[in-house]
Order: sequence, then structure tokens, then C-alpha cells
Amino acid sequence: MTAAGLESAAPGAKIRLFNSLGRQVTDFHPATPGQVRMYSCGPTVYSDPHLGNMRAYVFSDTLRRMLEWKGFAITQVVNITDVGHAVGDGDEGEDKVEVAARAEQRSVREVTDHYTAMFMADMEALNVLRAHEYPRASDYVPKMIDFAVKLDAGGHTYQIASGLYFDTTTSPGYGRLALIPQEGQQAGKRVSADEKRSPADFAIWRADPVGQRRIMRWDSPWGPGVPGWHLECSVMSIDLLGPHFDIHTGGVDHRELHHVNEIAQSEAFLDDGHDWVRLWMHNEFLLSGGAKLSKSAGRMPTIRDLAAAGVPPLAFRYFLLTAHYASQLELTDDGLEAAVSALRRLRGRAERLPPVPAAATLAGARGLVSAAGAVKLEQIDAAASEDLNTPRVLAEVQAALRDPVLPDNDKAVLVAVAGQLLGLRLADPPEEPAPAGRVVDEAAVEELVQAREQARKARDWAEADRLRDELAVIGVAVADTPEGPRWSLA
Ligand code: AMP
Ligand code: ZN
Repeated sequence: MTAAGLESAAPGAKIRLFNSLGRQVTDFHPATPGQVRMYSCGPTVYSDPHLGNMRAYVFSDTLRRMLEWKGFAITQVVNITDVGHAVGDGDEGEDKVEVAARAEQRSVREVTDHYTAMFMADMEALNVLRAHEYPRASDYVPKMIDFAVKLDAGGHTYQIASGLYFDTTTSPGYGRLALIPQEGQQAGKRVSADEKRSPADFAIWRADPVGQRRIMRWDSPWGPGVPGWHLECSVMSIDLLGPHFDIHTGGVDHRELHHVNEIAQSEAFLDDGHDWVRLWMHNEFLLSGGAKLSKSAGRMPTIRDLAAAGVPPLAFRYFLLTAHYASQLELTDDGLEAAVSALRRLRGRAERLPPVPAAATLAGARGLVSAAGAVKLEQIDAAASEDLNTPRVLAEVQAALRDPVLPDNDKAVLVAVAGQLLGLRLADPPEEPAPAGRVVDEAAVEELVQAREQARKARDWAEADRLRDELAVIGVAVADTPEGPRWSLA
């Protein structure tokens, strides 16, 4: 379909999105009319994905849902980082995955498979649409080496004992995404043969530390080692989406370093004088006690913890959507409780409305509403299209439901639209765990706990985790103590 055809079918509100590159709201036009290619930085699979991580995935999913609802065909890629991400996010130090494997006495592959499965389960619970590809960094190392060879041949790198480094002075506009002033860039002075020339330079290839072998390692023209953390996203996105694509998303921490370096190496690799990706979008942090929720700060709450405490995953999604993605959001009990009851109320209202045909797009929904309903639909569209203003979408839907003269049929369509657009399953709620405080069948719980213990003893981690999840669904938490497993009603 041509751009004109698409627009006449569903003109709707103009889509305007905040671009971190340039820090302003701009009109959205994908390179190919009607099609959007987007890449979202995914999880590093070395620990349970926490609630802060969920904000990044719910954000990119809601963005994708809005674009699909407006009639665009989307291709989305989400990477799985299973190698290369060093402790501290820098160029030195151990791989996060290898540290976890040692601590958990499992193989690297067991660790990465386990946390990838956790991530996928959380995505499903949060009704995040499946990406079209989930490339694993470890599968891409040969292509990363090819990419690095080209950077090297182009004069963008230099080698020191710890590996191959990107020379940021060869990257025009380095750091513009993070607003790093150009004059702040240090000239490429040679300090010593073993030091980086500039603090901003970053590892493309990390050689095995002297006298030490990594668990994961590949041969390369720069010796055995592992790719630098930033490399995978450039290589996998270009491989799967083409040299230039429309949207790149991630948490706001990535705007400062990871994405800055992705841009530098990708533009050096493509060398065509164009911006690599035109639209960069970042979600702000989920905070706890005023600080960013972060894996490195220790065990952080997960979707499963919340479910066990009576906050179903989609109520957490609702909670996230009550704030604009670009504002910081504090995780509070009050906020979560308010989200649980608001979602319950909304679904209660939806239940009393007549059934309506499903409409996956704005254009489809238009055909299902009266003139009065169409006005409300346009208000929802305006809110969603204006930099994905989800709090306003929620407010518009709630106002429409309270409207005494709006026909019930229109209300039903609007609820279905909001459910689709926001991924909240308003009209088709999933079965959710009974609230905490109810009676459980103790014998059945005991049986599950013992089965899990047997699976753990047999080192069948997948089965043990499956049983732990099954327990979480019925609101039971298990703690593994030196005396054996102990369960409680969460
Ligand atoms: P990681 O698995 O640590 O690589 O992070 C996965 C995604 O979660 C990245 O896009 C991060 O920027 C994002 N992220 C990490 N912590 C938070 C937080 N507290 N709030 C929002 N996003 C976060
Ligand atoms: Zn990335």
C-alpha cells in the first residue's frame, strides 16, 4: 500500500514521537511507507529480569501496539545478551553470565537458558507481543568478527593488550545522542601501548586476560576472547533489519553509553554519511525509594514476586502505563494497589457491556462506532499518537465509560480498543491467581514443594523452576533454607 493509500484509509492523528537524538518531538515517518522496523535492546540473561527491566519491554511493546493499531506492519527484533556484557558495563572484568554460572554452580548454557525462559515467561504474563526475532549474541560471534574486521580495515580501531578498541576520534559527531560536547572528546594521544588512547574508546574485542582463559571464548584476528558488549546490537540489528531501520529503543541508561557506542561503530561500518537510525526512544527508570531499580544492587522484585503478593502481571502493566514512558516512576504499594483496583473496575465495567466484533486497527474500530463514539475514538487516537501518552489514553477511556449518553456499544468498542492498544486484555481477562489471604490446599502445596525439591536434587532446573512458577500462581512462595524448602503464603 502506498503512503497516500495508507493515509486515506486511516488518516487519524499525526504520530509524533520524542527523539532522543536531537531531544525533540518530531513527526514520525518510517523509511518505507506503511512498514516499521524496530530494534529493542533486550535482556542480559544472568539473573531474574526485575520490574525495572519490565518497564523497558512494556514501553517498546506499547509503542509497537500503537503503530500496529495505526495500520503499520511492524518487524521487531529483541536481542538476548548471553555473552560479552562485563560486570560494571565497562570493558574490563568478568562476563556477568560467567559470574552467575559460578555462583549458581551451573554451566553457562544452563544459566542463559534458564534466564531466557524466565524473560519469555514474564513477557507472556505481561502480554508483550512476541518479537519477530530473538537473536542470541553467542550465535552471532562470527558475524561480529567480520564486522570488526571491516572497522579495523577502515582505520577505526587499534589493538592493545586487552583487545581491539574503537577509536572514537574517527567517529564524526561521537556522543551526540548523549549530548557529549565534541570539544570534550580527547584527541587520540598515545598514552602507552597498553592503555586506551581516550577514555571514551570502547572494546570491540576483549582478549582473554593475560594468563587467564574465559569460559566462553572464540578465536579472532586479535587473539582468543569475546566481543565487546556494544558490538552485538549493531551486528544483529543490521543483519536482521537492514543497514538503516526506523526505531531503536532501550532504557534511558543506554542513551548515555551503549547506544552512543552502537551508533559510532555502525556509522563507521556503513560509512555512507547517513544517520544509522533516525529515531531513538528511551524509557525513563522505574525507581524504588528514589533510586533506579537495578540488578547490580542485589535481588530485585520480579513479576512473580508481585503475582505472589496479589498484584497480577497485567495490573503491574496498568501501573506502568499510568505514567508517561519518559517520566520517572516510583514503585509504591499505594500505586500498585490503585492499579489493581482500577484494572478490576475497568474489567468489571467491560463485563457488563455488550459483546462487539474485534477490531485490530483504528480504521477497523471506526466502522464499529456511532458518530459520538467516533469523537471519543479520535480523542484516544490523539492521546496515543502524541508521543504515546498512555495516562491520557486511560483517562479518555475512563471518561468515555462514565459518559451517561454514550451508547453501550460504543463503550464496548472503546474498551476493546484500549485493551488492544495498551495490551491490558480488558475485554478478555486472563485467569489470575486468587488474592492472598485465602485458604490453600496444604496437601497439594506440600506435594508441589516436594516435587520441586526432588527436581532440584536431580539438578533438573527447568522442572524446578516450572514448579516454583506453578506455586507462585497459587500465591505460594518457597524459600530454600539449609533445613530444606519452606513455603509461605505470599
Ligand atoms: P539489562 O538486562 O540490564 O541489559 O536491561 C534490560 C533493559 O531494562 C534495558 O533497556 C535497560 O535500560 C532497562 N532497565 C534497567 N533498569 C531499569 C529501570 N530501573 N527502569 C527502567 N528500565 C530499566
Ligand atoms: Zn543493545
